[in-house]
Amino acid sequence: MNIGRTRTHKQVSVRGNAVLYVMSRDQRISDNYGLAFAQKLAVEKSLPLAVVFVLSKKGHRSREHYRFMLDGLVEVEQSLEAHSIPFMLLIGDPLQALSNLFHHTTPSAVVMDFSPLKGPQKLIQELKRSSDSGLYEVDSHNIVPVWVASEKQEVGARTLRPKIHKKLHEFLGDICPLLVKHPKIWPGKVLRLSELTSQIDNFLNSIPENNQKLLFKSGESAAHSKLNDFILHRLEGYAEQRNRPDLDGTSGLSSYLHYGQIASLAVVRALRELLVTRPELAGDVDCIIEEMVVRKELSDNYCYYAQGYRRVEHAPNWAQSTLKKHESDIREFLYSKEDFEKAQTHDPGWNAAQTQLIKSGIMHGYMRMYWAKKVLEWSSSPQEAIDTLIYLNDHYSIDGGDPNGYTGIMWSVCGVHDRPWGERQVYGSIRCMVYSGLKRKFPIEDYVKQWITK
Ligand code: FAD
Repeated sequence: MNIGRTRTHKQVSVRGNAVLYVMSRDQRISDNYGLAFAQKLAVEKSLPLAVVFVLSKKGHRSREHYRFMLDGLVEVEQSLEAHSIPFMLLIGDPLQALSNLFHHTTPSAVVMDFSPLKGPQKLIQELKRSSDSGLYEVDSHNIVPVWVASEKQEVGARTLRPKIHKKLHEFLGDICPLLVKHPKIWPGKVLRLSELTSQIDNFLNSIPENNQKLLFKSGESAAHSKLNDFILHRLEGYAEQRNRPDLDGTSGLSSYLHYGQIASLAVVRALRELLVTRPELAGDVDCIIEEMVVRKELSDNYCYYAQGYRRVEHAPNWAQSTLKKHESDIREFLYSKEDFEKAQTHDPGWNAAQTQLIKSGIMHGYMRMYWAKKVLEWSSSPQEAIDTLIYLNDHYSIDGGDPNGYTGIMWSVCGVHDRPWGERQVYGSIRCMVYSGLKRKFPIEDYVKQWITK
């Protein structure tokens, strides 16, 4: 396993009784480098291994999203059981829950998933301070680990792209060791998810609902089926059709990628293997690699290295000054968070996009840009727009709460990874999108009909 994937926060200093892998962002068994690394440490030290997951409240996420995630975790638990590794679900504040567990199990080493977001990064620092165990962080979510790809916040795709491509081959070739039946049995009983239903229900009841009926299955197997379906039915023509919200032309993988039920690395490997027999798909494969590797890993780069990713102050200087200059421009339309949430604007295209999001938990990527830019145009300030968008995206989008979401919002509202465009009202020189542009691109009326009349 390429050692560049792992960061050591604290070397193993105590003998300890176990090794713990704290699963969070990478909720799968295959291509899970953190889990493989934890098993390697446990086998070397002849210690038992457990996988721990902390169920905790996160921002604006909704009950339906937690249910989706928990369904996937049932599959994780079953797969781990086949390898004699227990799955421990803890509920509550992550620092408190993990500190209690460390106190009772005295782990020799703890392996954590990497996430660039502030909460998980802070948790690692706090655990480093409060625990004696060895502490490791593994990036299984990016093909090229964030800290290897770049040591700084990148200006945009054009500066990160060559750095990623330089390392891509090396990390794609880094095959993750397969999980083996763990030789040391965990001492004592660990409650299964099915034995924790009342505690899980209590937790879920404390999370606001969004009343979505999610139409797709959760879990590692479902993620791989979705990938196969994409390869069979939508990969050919992806480069052309991915920007057509009236067609089902994208991979539909973002929810699975968000919960780590599939690794982007597995997707890219499968697509590259396919090119051996289908070289004519090279343009489509290059296009999805640009989205799933360069754009996706650029989002992690931004959220990790920028001082913050939810505020106008974390936009490039040119964007901050142009937005400031236009802050008192008259807004032709002004809507509240509630108007937006109920899809009650004057714009049928915007309302259709918001309705798609509310009903299905998904919004087409092209409409996501339009949707976010209009919230900037119709809000009293850019910061209010960012706050509204984060709420709507995280509460309704099954793939929300993700660096891609925060970066996508910052790109749309305040020019992150973009450049100045022609100056206009409210936007200043932030790139703007207009309804007539949608009309030119695809039959927007069909999209509106599809979602507004449903
Ligand atoms: P595909 O076109 O099949 O792309 C494949 C994968 O590439 C995606 O699953 C995603 O992982 C990655 N990708 C594609 N486009 C982008 C992009 N622009 N930036 C970063 N990665 C990309 N993506 C999320 O995963 N979660 C979000 O919460 C989210 N919120 C967004 C909010 C706004 C305002 C904007 C403009 C974009 C947002 N995106 C988000 C990025 C993108 O729109 C989605 O990843 C994409 O629509 C998901 O559908 P798909 O998997 O079918 O995409």
